[in-house]
Amino acid sequence: MELSALTEKLIEAVGEEYVHTSHAALRSYDHDALMIYKGQPGAVVLPETTEEISRVMRICREENLPIIARGAGTCLSGGATPAPGGVLIVTTRMNRILEVDYENRLARVQPGVINLHLSDETRPHGFHYAPDPSSQMACTIGGNAAENSGGAHCLKYGMTTNHILGMTVVLSSGEVVRLGSDGEEAPGLDLRGFFVGSEGTFAMTTEITVRLTPNPEGVRTMLTTFAEVGDACRTVSDVIAAGAVPAAMELMDRYTVEAIEKVMKAGYPRDAAAVLLIELDGLIPSMRPLEAIIRQACEKNRCTSFRLAESEEERESLWMGRKKAFGAFGAIAPAYYCLDGTVPRSKLAEVLAEFDKIGERFGFIITNVFHAGDGSLHPNVLFDDRVPGETERAVECGAEVLRVCIRAGGVLSGEHGIGIEKMREMADQFDEPTLRMMERMRDAIDPTGLLNPGKIFPGEDVLFPIAQSGGAMRAAPGMSK
Ligand SMILES: Cc1cc2nc3c(=O)[nH]c(=O)nc-3n(C[C@H](O)[C@H](O)[C@H](O)COP(=O)(O)OP(=O)(O)OC[C@H]3O[C@@H](n4cnc5c(N)ncnc54)[C@H](O)[C@@H]3O)c2cc1C
Repeated sequence: MELSALTEKLIEAVGEEYVHTSHAALRSYDHDALMIYKGQPGAVVLPETTEEISRVMRICREENLPIIARGAGTCLSGGATPAPGGVLIVTTRMNRILEVDYENRLARVQPGVINLHLSDETRPHGFHYAPDPSSQMACTIGGNAAENSGGAHCLKYGMTTNHILGMTVVLSSGEVVRLGSDGEEAPGLDLRGFFVGSEGTFAMTTEITVRLTPNPEGVRTMLTTFAEVGDACRTVSDVIAAGAVPAAMELMDRYTVEAIEKVMKAGYPRDAAAVLLIELDGLIPSMRPLEAIIRQACEKNRCTSFRLAESEEERESLWMGRKKAFGAFGAIAPAYYCLDGTVPRSKLAEVLAEFDKIGERFGFIITNVFHAGDGSLHPNVLFDDRVPGETERAVECGAEVLRVCIRAGGVLSGEHGIGIEKMREMADQFDEPTLRMMERMRDAIDPTGLLNPGKIFPGEDVLFPIAQSGGAMRAAPGMSK
C-alpha cells in the first residue's frame, strides 16, 4: 500500500494533527533509551481514546503492518524500538488520571500518565503509587505495566504487577477486552497477571486500575560504607535473613562513588569500595528494632562508617548521589551500556567478582549500582562508542554478564525487560519446551504476530542490526536511574 493511502486511513482514525510521517518525526522515534538498536517506523500516531486505538489496530491488521506501543520511550531493552515500517502508537495524549478512589485505595488512569504524577496527585491525601522506577519522572504507567517495572522501594512493596488490579486492552483484532477488576478480587483466569510484563507483544493497554499505598508514618535513611564490596553484599543478605525488610537497599561500587563525587559531591566517602544506602519506613516505633538489626549486620561485616540522616534535607542529599549516579558516569566515560539481571542475594559478592573478570578480559570497566535488597543488578559497561567496533564489543561483554546471572541461579531481567537486547539469551534461561509454550501463548492472544515483532522470543526474524555509532546511553550529568 502507498504510504499516502495508509496516512489517509490513519488520519481518518485519529485526526490529521496526530499522524506523523515526515522524515524528521520518524527519525526521532526510531529508538528508545537503549540506543544500540534502531528501527524507523512508517508512521507515528498519537490517539486519545481506546476507540481510536482500536481503529488504528484494525487498519494495521488489514494492511499487515507491525504495531508498536510507546509510552515515554525510556525502555532500556529496545522494547519500544519500532519494527521498520510499522505503525508506532504513542500514548502521550492519553495522560489523564480518570478517577481516584481513596476509600477503596485505587486509581484509574490512562496509560500515558507519568508514574510520578500519580504520586504527586495523591500524596497530599495520604497515598502514593508505590512502584518507583528511577525514571519515574518520565516513564508512563502503561510502559511500567508492559515491562513489570521495579524501583528502589519495590523491595518492600513489590513490583508493578503487585499494584495493578485491572486493565483495558485492545487486541490486534481491534477488540477491546477488560482484564482483572477494579477491586481486590477477580474471578476466572488471572489474565491481568499474564499480560503484565508482555512488553507490548499481546495487546495495547488503554486504561489501568492501580492500587494506592498509604504514605508511611516515618522514614529512616542510613548510609554505610565498606572497604570490600563483598562485605557490603553480605550485609544485605544478613539484614534480610535477620528478619528486617527495609524499604530500600541500594549499593554503589567505588567507580560509581568516584563518578558521583566528581560530578555532584553527594558526600560519599571517596575511599569506600562500596556505599550502601538503606531506608526503613513504616510506623515510627516499629523502625527502632529494625535499625538495631541493620547496625549489627553492618558492624559484623566491618563497615567503615555508619551515618543516619538527621533531617529531611540530609536524607534528600544522601539519595541525590544514588539518583544521579547514571548521569555521573559522563565524568568517567563517553558512553555506557546499562544492563539488568537479578541474582539470589546470597550470590551477590561472587557474581560481582565474576563481572570484574569479564571486564578485565574485554578491557572495559564494569561499574555496579543496584537494588541490592532484591538482588536486582545494574552492571554498566563503560566504553567509547566513537571507536569503531566498541559498541559491538560492549554488547558481547554485556551478554557474558547476563550469562553469569543465569548461571548463578538468577534471571535475565529484573526490570528492563527482554526486548531486542536479551532475545538471544532467552535460550540460555529457558529450555525449548518452555520457550515454545510462551510462543504458543503469545500466538493465541495475537495470531497475527503484528504486535511488537522482533522482541522477546528468540528465533524471530532479526529486524534490528546494531547501530554503527551513538550506541548505548550517553552519560549526561543530571540523568538518573
Ligand atoms: C534513566 C533511566 C532509569 C530507569 N530506571 C528504571 C528502574 O529503576 N526500574 C525499571 O523497571 N526500569 C527503569 N528504567 C527503564 C524504563 O524506564 C522502564 O522500563 C519503564 O517502565 C518504561 O516506561 P515507558 O513509558 O518509557 O515505556 P516505553 O519505553 O515507551 O515502552 C516500554 C515497553 O512497553 C510497551 N508499551 C508502552 N506503552 C504500552 C501500552 N500502553 N500498552 C502496551 N505496551 C506498551 C512498549 O511497546 C515497550 O515494549 C529506566 C530507564 C532510564 C532511561
